[in-house]
Amino acid sequence: MIRDAVTCDRPNCRGMMLEPLDYEHDTFEAHVIASGWTYDATGHTCPACMLGTGPVHERGECPVCGGRICTLHGQDECLSCERKLPAGDGEDEW
Ligand SMILES: [Zn+2]
Ligand SMILES: [Zn+2]
Repeated sequence: MIRDAVTCDRPNCRGMMLEPLDYEHDTFEAHVIASGWTYDATGHTCPACMLGTGPVHERGECPVCGGRICTLHGQDECLSCERKLPAGDGEDEW
């Protein structure tokens, strides 16, 4: 299966979003925009850069921006876009 991906076009940002296996929107692009990315003539901007919390320096497992996840008080949170993530079921390596 071929999965699409979008990368952040801001300087020095390694933000990216991989097409999920399942999403509510008709197109991956619509899903990307709904997740907080923007797209204009200069390219894609990830949520971390949009919020000013980026750029994403280190790749991790954030499903939204591709940034690193840290766990604080049992709550997973992205270090780059500060998205709170549902607690995972154990160690999910990929
Ligand atoms: Zn970015
Ligand atoms: Zn993130």
